[in-house]
Amino acid sequence: MAAGLHADEKSLMLGAIILPRRFPATAQAGAVTPGTSGLLTGTPLAQGTVAMKIGVVGCTGRMGQMLIRQIVGTAGCVLAGGVDRPASPAIGKDLGTLIGLEALGLSVGEDPVALFAASDAVIDFTVPAASIQHAHLAAQAQTILVVGTTGLSRDQEAELFRAARYTPIVQSANMSLGVNILLAAVEQVARALGPEVDIEILEMHHRYKVDAPSGTALALGRAAAAGRGVDLDQVAVRSRDGLTGPRRRGDIGFAALRGGDVVGDHSVIFAADGERVELSHRASDRSIFARGAVAAARWAAGKPPGLYGMRDVLGMATPAATG
Ligand code: NAD
Repeated sequence: MAAGLHADEKSLMLGAIILPRRFPATAQAGAVTPGTSGLLTGTPLAQGTVAMKIGVVGCTGRMGQMLIRQIVGTAGCVLAGGVDRPASPAIGKDLGTLIGLEALGLSVGEDPVALFAASDAVIDFTVPAASIQHAHLAAQAQTILVVGTTGLSRDQEAELFRAARYTPIVQSANMSLGVNILLAAVEQVARALGPEVDIEILEMHHRYKVDAPSGTALALGRAAAAGRGVDLDQVAVRSRDGLTGPRRRGDIGFAALRGGDVVGDHSVIFAADGERVELSHRASDRSIFARGAVAAARWAAGKPPGLYGMRDVLGMATPAATG
């Protein structure tokens, strides 16, 4: 789902900050010499190998720390740096010691403009308002952006789409391989079972999660709705409380549980008279999302500007791709 480039919108988007026009990431990445790069990549690169410079915004968060670990441990990638919100007490700390590794000689910064200028790709798991600011910076710097942040409003989704006219942006509410396979399966099962069957989506996450239903639950709802050929907004019941009356035929219901350290559980329940089909995914380790995000950044190198999803990255894109 790539978006086209409109010159008038480009001048509209370019703000006060002028950054140098970039070449495609593949051509931009600098040659890395073994020995000097080993610390940041975790794996020595062959002489003359071109590594991709990846920056992390929100680098002190749960996912941010996972991303640093993933980039440092991925051959062919170098950590360009990490930035968090200016008030973060971690500003100035070494990015390696922050996550329990040896010092990397890169400290937590607070200037995203410099990070976008120094990176071939930036990965963003922060909060919606920050992700939109980062999308504008990515457009200005023509840096690849991978957005994992969930809970974006419709307007914010539209802004992300506009920014993607100038640079490749990969956005997914869930970067795991398993969930993206689940999305495809849910669409197929919803199509096969038809409108007589009631669809309910149940999710559980850790106590710190701030948005509900989860972005993944909504993506699963969109996949089910696509399978039925309906618009999720017309049939979604995002919560129930009190005298709700009987279930409306065709509704897709959501229920959200919060507690403990649950990384992310999702079930899609297809309930008919006399039988139920349940499709579930349980994440037990955040590294699956970090691995997917780094893979997305690498996949986007050299791609034309546009808004892409994980199903594009995994080569599973369908017309109704939502992940
Ligand atoms: P977290 O609260 O632990 O981390 C968020 C980080 O962003 C914090 O360090 C915070 O200081 C930082 N931040 C906030 N505003 C910022 C700004 N303006 N500039 C720079 N940094 C800023 O949260 P988390 O658990 O890491 O999750 C972050 C987001 O990622 C949430 O929306 C969550 O739902 C989502 N998530 C997505 C996936 C996926 O696969 N897409 C997986 C896990 C989490």
